[in-house]
Amino acid sequence: MSTHGKNPYEIVQELLKESVNGLGLDESIYQILKKPMRVLEVSIPIRKDNGDIVNYTGYRSQHLDILGPTKGGIRFHPEVNIDEVRALSIWMSMKSAIIQLPLGGGKGGVIVNPNDLNERELEELSRSYIRKITPIIGPKKDIPAPDMNTTPEIMAWMIDEYDKLNGYNVPGLLTGKPIIIGGSQGRLEATGRGVVITIREAANAINLDLSQATAAIQGFGNVGSATAHFLHESGVKVVAITDESGGIYNENGINIPELTEFVAEGNVIADYEKCESISNEKMFALPIDILIPAAIENQITKETAPTIQAKIVAEAANGPSTPEGNDILEENGVFIIPDILCNAGGVTVSYFEWVQNTMNYYWKEEKVNRELEEKMISAFKRVYEMKEEKKSGMRQAAYMVGIKHLVLALKARGWIKNGDLSKM
Ligand code: GLU
Repeated sequence: MSTHGKNPYEIVQELLKESVNGLGLDESIYQILKKPMRVLEVSIPIRKDNGDIVNYTGYRSQHLDILGPTKGGIRFHPEVNIDEVRALSIWMSMKSAIIQLPLGGGKGGVIVNPNDLNERELEELSRSYIRKITPIIGPKKDIPAPDMNTTPEIMAWMIDEYDKLNGYNVPGLLTGKPIIIGGSQGRLEATGRGVVITIREAANAINLDLSQATAAIQGFGNVGSATAHFLHESGVKVVAITDESGGIYNENGINIPELTEFVAEGNVIADYEKCESISNEKMFALPIDILIPAAIENQITKETAPTIQAKIVAEAANGPSTPEGNDILEENGVFIIPDILCNAGGVTVSYFEWVQNTMNYYWKEEKVNRELEEKMISAFKRVYEMKEEKKSGMRQAAYMVGIKHLVLALKARGWIKNGDLSKM
């Protein structure tokens, strides 16, 4: 995730500050929110199969636990860094607050390219990382989950390691587990399902008929592929998809079920034959209705934003737009569904998973999907109403909704005085 010189921690702090001001709150609220309460750095030496020891660096950041335990994924990526993990933990706080989950924000990461490791080495890294962060995690403290390049299988190794140390099985330690060991129905597709729920709400708001609409997606990992699936199911024509392997374009719409099967067989999207190839740059500039960045940070920038013709930009990735990119989209009248709203379906179903683990009683998929839909729709409404009330953009409105919720909790806990809230 190339940050193109933009530090996501500075970006999120800027957004927090603007939104605290936008709500007319005292600067002291920003002082509380601007830093994670705890950040742990760990070293993870791994013996590779060639005999060498490589020492990886990992982090876990916990932003704020006033609403409940902190929660958020763990990513394995070569460009992970401490500020990115800090920012991602703040974004998690915002997501949980916007959905009104009783959770705070957390995030973890290891600086590694998982393609450089074989399966045994990846398992050792996963087990070792969780051992190193064991003192600060737990079902009542901080609950990890998958993120970029981490899968249900990796979650299974991690929880197995934790259970060995702990002496008994703690299913609520982390979420995104395989269903057989306490995972939730619907968790794997939850982020993509939530993305498409917000797209549907946005389409209603701007009177866009989804059955006539076209879309393009950057990224075909867990979130991008599930988003493609649900868009296809809603009658949207997905005309272009790009990822690290390249890009594909078909003006009549890509056959998503066939592409999904092709990728599941171990192929990369660039090798899918029934399409022309397309660069990411060209895809961003296509005359489509919906553009979905579902990959990495800082993709919609002051360079790329002016080329975007889409009516809706749905941020399935975390932090895909820079502040300049966001402003250009807003000036051009694009309807932005900001990341902290758009991709919050993942943590929402993770919360359901944790609830089921705590009850030791498991829900049918239909119930999971129904409750997800209800929570995403009400969160969308809260953000949209805030945007109307404050005459702000959607991103600032999302921050204001999240901050307002956190402020009520801070007030209940006696952290702030009435004067700080006078205008809220
Ligand atoms: N990694 C996901 C996110 O960024 C999900 C977090 C979770 O399920 O706790 O929202």
